[in-house]
Amino acid sequence: MQYTTQMDAARKGIITAQMETVAQKEGIPAVELAKLMAEGKVIIPCNKNHKSISPAGVGSMLKTKINVNLGTSRDCKNLEMELQKVESAVSMGAEAIMDLSSYGDTGKFRRMLTEKCPAMIGTVPIYDAVVYYHKPLIKITSEEWLDIVRMHAQDGVDFMTIHCGINKETAHKFKRNKRLTNIVSRGGSIIFAWMEMTGKENPFYEHFDEILEICREYDVTLSLGDACRPGSIADGTDAAQIEELIALGELTKRAWEKDVQVMIEGPGHMPLNQIAANMEIEKTLCHGAPFYVLGPIVTDIAPGYDHITSAIGGAVAAMNGASFLCYVTPAEHLRLPDVEDVKEGIIAARIAAHAADIAKGVPGAANWDNQMSLARKQLNWEEMFRLAIDPEKARRYRASSKPEKEDTCSMCGNFCAVKNMNRILDGEIVSIFDE
Ligand code: SF4
Repeated sequence: MQYTTQMDAARKGIITAQMETVAQKEGIPAVELAKLMAEGKVIIPCNKNHKSISPAGVGSMLKTKINVNLGTSRDCKNLEMELQKVESAVSMGAEAIMDLSSYGDTGKFRRMLTEKCPAMIGTVPIYDAVVYYHKPLIKITSEEWLDIVRMHAQDGVDFMTIHCGINKETAHKFKRNKRLTNIVSRGGSIIFAWMEMTGKENPFYEHFDEILEICREYDVTLSLGDACRPGSIADGTDAAQIEELIALGELTKRAWEKDVQVMIEGPGHMPLNQIAANMEIEKTLCHGAPFYVLGPIVTDIAPGYDHITSAIGGAVAAMNGASFLCYVTPAEHLRLPDVEDVKEGIIAARIAAHAADIAKGVPGAANWDNQMSLARKQLNWEEMFRLAIDPEKARRYRASSKPEKEDTCSMCGNFCAVKNMNRILDGEIVSIFDE
């Protein structure tokens, strides 16, 4: 092979098979895609050992992508259920799956994913290290943290969240500027605790060059983790969040020097009016690297409905430059999501991504909407079901409340504006009250 990573290939002017596939999916010339990849503005997370992948591109110039978080926990360790979620996520159009397993034989599940799953697979080695070594956090050595990164890379993981931005400087800033909700990132809290207990520098920051060597060897994309993402709207855009983003921007440049693909993880909880500015700050500090947002959740008062609070934030974020949305389910802040929660989370994230694609003018994005509107005008219910983002729910709702007039619905019945307009424009008499 004449190249190491997709970024290296792009910089050498080589159009890879993965670039061809992504260019076709996006409807843009492969040469244009390669140019964006060479600059780090677009990535194709695609580990050399993930043979079953159908590659997807991530970048604000492309269609907005969504990620689905899955995985076992100590309280919910049903592997069958997690596999069911994977199948449902892929069939519902998720481009990526992050395996956040923190209990049991995590390696087995991870390898099942990279053997069979066509979606991009992401992991967070920090969680897995705690499970894998099965010993107190303080006893895990710097070398052991890095060994887990290598193990995930060998297993074919396409992107990894590495919490390397919370170095001693960031931690100092966090401690000096008190927050309402401290650190809410799982990985961030683990590495912060390890740093506090050992007095050592964050190993992912200190040994960043070794991580880059691993990523370069397998073409793993670095998802530079936001340990200091705000966990409440009160903490949005605070000193720790920005300090970490500055560090991530510096690390992005170092990764690019080694042709390692990078995306930046972002907030978190954040008031709606701060989102656009945050996208701009990320683009500036991180040199245009794709932004992967976890929400943003725009209000803290809606447990049970956080797929909605995050879809609102996700749509605004993607419209303003975020490339990749991590779904949030109604179970967020409450429990591990079940299969139905996963479905609702995916639908909400896909709606947010699609709404943003229309707003940012992705070519052809609004065609789907126009087809639906035409079907509505024609009162063509079967076509409406076919086009619906959730056909099963649309069909079930209509069937649950039968209208007297078959072509209308029970919302307005004989007052159906669509039907009456069609009729009057066709020269018919519209009487309404006695029809
Ligand atoms: S009855 Fe009302 S809601 Fe239903 S299709 Fe007609 S206009 Fe739309």
